[in-house]
Amino acid sequence: MSRPTQPTPSSGSGPAQVIAIDGPAGAGKSTASHTLARRLGFFLLDTGAIYRALALAARTAGVAWDDEAGLALLARDLPIRFVPRSDAAQAVLLGDADISLAIRTPEISDGASRVSSLPAVRAALLELQRSIAGAGGCVVEGRDIGTVVLPWAPVKFFVTASPEERARRRHLELCARGEPSDLVDTLAGIIERDRRDETREAAPLRPAVDAVHIDTSPLGLEEVVDRMERIARERLRLGG
Ligand code: C5P
Repeated sequence: MSRPTQPTPSSGSGPAQVIAIDGPAGAGKSTASHTLARRLGFFLLDTGAIYRALALAARTAGVAWDDEAGLALLARDLPIRFVPRSDAAQAVLLGDADISLAIRTPEISDGASRVSSLPAVRAALLELQRSIAGAGGCVVEGRDIGTVVLPWAPVKFFVTASPEERARRRHLELCARGEPSDLVDTLAGIIERDRRDETREAAPLRPAVDAVHIDTSPLGLEEVVDRMERIARERLRLGG
């Protein structure tokens, strides 16, 4: 199967072959989204990477992470592109620079969390997200996709796991990488991030009323994606 490339921007604002996947950090959303997109031959739009790229671009341009007007200006012309890589992952480019790794540092995670809480930033990035997804054939992963970015998406999932399970996964991940980790601190960090995501004024994290909820705590990845794939094929009439 040929690797799906970033769809040509479209001004679409109605029904399209799009799947919205929202949920808190650490619920298994990213892995499930990647796997589902691959199985369906869809393009994956990781909207968190857009907020991360903006935080990085701001740092490079000397724009502070609380300078709402300056960030919104940068966001309006953010030259971000997602390009398929040979290892089945996706490269994130800003202009010609590959920023795939640079946007995954703890510092940029913090910056992304800060810039994403600003209403003018979210408004400035709305059209970019819609124009990439509007062409269809797209799995879109984020926090407000089913509620704000693509409320008309015909398939929506809200992926969760208990804070304890998410902390356990994160702790094991860090230990496997040989990085220092404390389970109690990790759990406290997750609870605090959830609180910030759920209570912020601009596009708080909450499920769309028509989203299918999937609690990944008791499920393996295969089971999660099998369930998503079944529902997506049925609703999008994809067959298979
Ligand atoms: O998903 P990821 O951790 O890469 O997201 C980076 C940051 O962007 C997080 O702080 C998350 O809350 C925020 N975000 C957001 N809306 C989205 C996607 C991500 O506020 N649609």
